[in-house]
Amino acid sequence: MKDFRASRIEKRQCPSCDAAVVNGTYCHEAGCQDGHLFVTRGCPWCGQSFKPETRSQEHCSPGCNYAFHNLEFQDEA
Ligand SMILES: [Zn+2]
Ligand SMILES: [Zn+2]
Repeated sequence: MKDFRASRIEKRQCPSCDAAVVNGTYCHEAGCQDGHLFVTRGCPWCGQSFKPETRSQEHCSPGCNYAFHNLEFQDEA
């Protein structure tokens, strides 16, 4: 028997909130700890859309994450 979380995800339902699909966009409740599931984000570095694998992933790839933050460091120097 599958656990609750796995079966919710299989049905594209968020295991942590009562998420809804609004105008084709998956919307989690505010503060949902699984807010990255099923959503698409735009990379602030290259503009490409991607599906985040963790809640904190903000860039499409580690390379973009590095480039983005490296630029910030250079600005401070
Ligand atoms: Zn959620
Ligand atoms: Zn990117």
